Amino acid sequence: MVEGAGLENRYARKGIEGSNPSLSVLPHRVLIAAELRGLLEPDQLEGLDVTWLPADQPVGKGDWVAIVPLLSRWVGGTELKYLPSLRIVANCAVGYDNVDVVAAEMRKVIVTNTPDVLTDATADLTWTLILACARRVVEAIDLVRAEQWRGWHPELLLGVELRGRTLGLFGAGRIGQAVGRRAVPFGLRVIYAARTAKPDFERDTGAVRVDWSRLVTESDILSLHAPSTPETKGMINGDTLSRMKPGAILVNTARGDLIREEALAIALEGGRLGAAGLDVYTEEPTIHPRLRAAPRTVLLPHIGSATHDTRRKMAAIAVANVQAVLAGQPPLTPVYR
Ligand code: NAP
Repeated sequence: MVEGAGLENRYARKGIEGSNPSLSVLPHRVLIAAELRGLLEPDQLEGLDVTWLPADQPVGKGDWVAIVPLLSRWVGGTELKYLPSLRIVANCAVGYDNVDVVAAEMRKVIVTNTPDVLTDATADLTWTLILACARRVVEAIDLVRAEQWRGWHPELLLGVELRGRTLGLFGAGRIGQAVGRRAVPFGLRVIYAARTAKPDFERDTGAVRVDWSRLVTESDILSLHAPSTPETKGMINGDTLSRMKPGAILVNTARGDLIREEALAIALEGGRLGAAGLDVYTEEPTIHPRLRAAPRTVLLPHIGSATHDTRRKMAAIAVANVQAVLAGQPPLTPVYR
């Protein structure tokens, strides 16, 4: 339980003590994830009385008017009840499945996210996983590290040639399209499933919109880029995995609960699936033990947006949303428009 006393942001204090004469009122009390502290500049926090909230501490009762949580913090009915003065939840992520947006809307609390700034970083990481799976990079590294490499061999660690194969995108929003655009120079055919057609994307890449069933059965590489919602949860399950092409590669940089992890482990153990490249998991940081032990996986610790530039921009946008709302202006990136 975190209480605000003694944890005020010293820059905000400085602000009211005179460095900024325009600040004549008490600073706004805000809760910000403590893990973001090193990514934020003092001027971004001006006018805010910050309580830094570590990820392992629950939200306490208090008069904070804003919260900037990490995606690992659930902000639901209880938290909103504890924070009766809350005006904004500025999630430091593009996904906002950790926020009960309906409960927030009912309490007239604005919810914002951090779109766009993380698109390229996440698309690049998706390609890291695609290439690592297709070219068996983890097995290759393990071989070298174990001093088991016996020299060049024509059949050593043969992988999948990308040119001419089909990349299927589930979700073709910002990140899905960025992944699809990167597929063109690799010579991949792109298909996608999304709720609405993307004519610009189709024109630029030759991508073809298909239904879910065709996406599953025609993809050599199936990459997930839809948010976690009641409709998308568990879409990759025993049934869908059994309908994928033998040897296909599954990549997930969206949210872990799109995949039933035990079913994926079984598909990998049985040799039906070629490989799985994952950045996200259902119960992070725990990975289903059977999946962690399964063959032909590339398992990353949710680092899709983890570049210096992107993480700074995400923190900056989250706090800029807080500053805008507290100044009586519209939020920059609301999740409901
Ligand atoms: P976005 O622009 O909102 O794109 C989401 C896409 O999913 C849209 O094309 C949307 O279709 C589609 N979609 C949503 N529900 C669907 C459904 N039921 N069936 C089919 N398609 C559906 O979001 P984004 O910026 O690309 O981010 C996508 C997700 O990536 C985020 O929600 C987040 O969970 C995840 N992410 C992960 C990391 C990481 O660190 N690994 C980093 C950033 C983001 P329409 O366009 O037709 O609405």
